[in-house]
Amino acid sequence: MNLRTLQDLDFVGKKVFLRLDLNVPIKNGVIKDDTRILEAIPTIKHILEHTNKVAIASHLGRPDGEVDLNYSLEPVGVRLAELLQRDVVFVNDYMTEPYDQVLGQLDPQQIVLLENLRFNPGETKNDLDFCRQLARGIDLYVNDAFGTAHRAHASTVGVADLLDPNRRAAGLLMEKEIQALGSILNQPEAPFTVIMGGAKVSDKIAVILSLLNRCNHLIIGGAMAYTFLKYKGHAVGSSKVEADRMDLVETIFRNAEARRVQIHLPIDHGCAAAFKEDAVRVDIAERAIPAGLMGLDIGPKTVEAYGRVIRNSRTVFWNGPMGVFEWKAFAQGTMDIARAVAACEGRTVVGGGDSVSAANQAGVADKMSHVSTGGGAALEFLEGRVLPGIKVLLK
Ligand code: AMP
Repeated sequence: MNLRTLQDLDFVGKKVFLRLDLNVPIKNGVIKDDTRILEAIPTIKHILEHTNKVAIASHLGRPDGEVDLNYSLEPVGVRLAELLQRDVVFVNDYMTEPYDQVLGQLDPQQIVLLENLRFNPGETKNDLDFCRQLARGIDLYVNDAFGTAHRAHASTVGVADLLDPNRRAAGLLMEKEIQALGSILNQPEAPFTVIMGGAKVSDKIAVILSLLNRCNHLIIGGAMAYTFLKYKGHAVGSSKVEADRMDLVETIFRNAEARRVQIHLPIDHGCAAAFKEDAVRVDIAERAIPAGLMGLDIGPKTVEAYGRVIRNSRTVFWNGPMGVFEWKAFAQGTMDIARAVAACEGRTVVGGGDSVSAANQAGVADKMSHVSTGGGAALEFLEGRVLPGIKVLLK
């Protein structure tokens, strides 16, 4: 992939529109997790070495095109100012007052942060007038928001389109994501193991089919495992099953057979009589789940068997929890798999919101080769699609 990077742009004295993913959790004006802000700092610093005429733009939450101060980026501006040791000039209303004039009048210690892009309906609609307003007076466009690269919005596509291709580039985080996820798609070292978990086969079918073309082992966990087990004729009790999507499982088995990919399914389970947080865990030491019980986690024998496959892999991609890991009694399998992936000596990539938080919860995120910051974007990338927010950054 021939990506334009920061090295391709001459920033000296230029006015820059910098799209970041500063979509952090905020409660009552307090930032609960500033990881995304921290991840954005290297690109900001790189640009600040050459120019301070930078307008940072991001979305936060889903205010649906209306001003809702619960989703204001103002607290993010305060944190950015602390981290960068700069004054952050917060621009609320860039629709009536063009912000490029503010950029032209900045003191050397100042940078600009625009209010939440999604306060304007033009952002998600990729509205041309909104794009023009954002691009007015701008010399260069940089996108470092990998997490929204699968959306063709004003700030991810429309604004870029208004500038010459040689005035656009990907930021450092975007570049890192594309390299890491690209290494999964392009000749991953064998044995390559894909671990898929989470709620539904139907949500992940496209990425599973794409990775089946590349992997040697497909490990299945989470609720989707019961649809696979049911298809194979095993008793699954009252586990969540997508009874109307057995065709998808059949397609997966057919493709796996044609490509000699080994599919691994749970051989024991952590179960409960009801789907509730305080449900008592009942361990079932065999594949068949008795009537009246539902599978909410993989069991220890499954962990051991999956662990053996993971240990012997040279490449691992993991997406989706192995059970209802949000509930303590059913988190064990997911935590054990997180540790097994972290201990693998091959290249290990984790993608998707829940598996990332599981890796954090298990305290092993820093042992992975790469933890993707993009949930939906990472999966769409691995489906083999060219994401619209990346397409505009190609040479
Ligand atoms: P996904 O977003 O598709 O990765 O799905 C993640 C969700 O799947 C989490 O909220 C888990 O609680 C849920 N999940 C995982 N395993 C099970 C299970 N065995 N039964 C019900 N829900 C599950």
